[in-house]
Amino acid sequence: MAEKKENKEKTIEEKIKEQNIKKVAVFTSGGDAPGMNACIRAVVRTCSYHGVQIKGIMRGYAGIIDGDFKNMTPRSVSNIIQRGGTILKSARSEEFKTKEGMEQAYFNLKAERIEGVIAIGGDGTFRGAYEFSQKYDIPFIGVPGTIDNDMFGTDFTIGYDTALNTVVECIDKIRDTAHAHDRLFFIEVMGRDAGFIALYSGIASGAEAILIPETETNIDNLVESLDYGWRRKKTSSIVLVAEGEEVGGAIEIAKMVKERMNGRYDIRVTILGHIQRGGAPTCNDRVLASRLGVRATEALLAGERNIMAGMINNKIVFTDFVKATKHNTEINRDLLRISEILSY
Ligand code: ATP
Repeated sequence: MAEKKENKEKTIEEKIKEQNIKKVAVFTSGGDAPGMNACIRAVVRTCSYHGVQIKGIMRGYAGIIDGDFKNMTPRSVSNIIQRGGTILKSARSEEFKTKEGMEQAYFNLKAERIEGVIAIGGDGTFRGAYEFSQKYDIPFIGVPGTIDNDMFGTDFTIGYDTALNTVVECIDKIRDTAHAHDRLFFIEVMGRDAGFIALYSGIASGAEAILIPETETNIDNLVESLDYGWRRKKTSSIVLVAEGEEVGGAIEIAKMVKERMNGRYDIRVTILGHIQRGGAPTCNDRVLASRLGVRATEALLAGERNIMAGMINNKIVFTDFVKATKHNTEINRDLLRISEILSY
C-alpha cells in the first residue's frame, strides 16, 4: 500500500529557516506616532532572535536615498519602549517619488545586501513601498504607524490610542475653564482626512458637537443645537472640530457661529496641534506595536512580501498594499448617533 503523504503546514520557524535571509532593514516614515519606538524595538529583537542582521535606516525614504543606515543590536533599542517620537527619525521624501530617487534607493539597499525592509508609517509610506515593489525585487512589509487611524486592514494604528488619551486630557482641562467662565470652546484636533480622533475623544470627553470630514456640517443646525443647550441651562459647551472638516477649521467655524449667536456664548478657540503627536505611548500602543513588529518581521523572514500587518478583532491579519492604501476605513456611524444622544 502506498504510504500516505503527510501534507503538514510548515511552522513559521521552518519557513524562516528555509528562506535563510541574512540581513534586513527597518525605517519609520510619514508623521511620527507614539509607539513607533516600541515597534522598532520589536523588529530589531525579532531579527536578533532569529539570527538575522538588522540595519536601521534614518529619516524614512530620504535615508534610503542618502544611504543613511546604522547597525542595530538588541542593546541599541534598550530603554525606548516608553518613548514617543522615533529614534530612527521620520521624514517625507519627494525624491523617492522620482525614477532617479527610487533607483538610488535600490542601489543603496543592494550595496548593503539588504534582503527585505520593514516600513513603519501611514498609507503614503505603503504607496511608496508598493511603487518600489513594482520595479525592484526587494520585499517590503508594512506596519501601520500613524495617529490618524485611517488605515484599511487594521482596527487600530500605532499611536492612535496615545493621541486619543492626550486629546482627552487636554479637553478635560479646557472643560474646567469653560465651565468656570460659562464659555463655548471650539477645539481643533488632528485628522486631515479622517475624523477618528475627533469622534472617539469627543465621546470620551462629553463634547456637545463633533464635526468631522466624513459627515456634512450645517452651521445653522449646529447653532440651533447649541442654542437648544443654552435654553436648557447649559452654560458651557465644547465643539470638537477635525482639522479636515470641509466647512473650515475651528477658527472659521467659531467665527460663523459667533455671527449667528447674538452674544449668547463667550466663544474661544483652541488648536491642540502637535502636542497630539508626542508623549509616552499608552500600554495599548506599546502592546500593539510589539505584536505587529514581531509578526511583520517574522512574515518578512518567512518570505512574505508587500503586505501590511494589522490587528482585527485582536488577531494579526495581513493585507496587501494595494488594498490597504486604496480602501478607506469607514467611520462607525453608530458612534455619531451615540455622541448626539449623550450631548442632549
Ligand atoms: P501619515 O499618515 O502620518 O501622514 P504617511 O506614510 O501617509 O504618514 P506621507 O507623507 O503621505 O505619510 O508618505 C510618506 C512618504 O512616502 C512620502 O514622503 C514619500 O516619500 C513616500 N510616498 C508616498 N506616496 C508615494 C508614491 N506614490 N510613490 C513613491 N513614494 C511615495
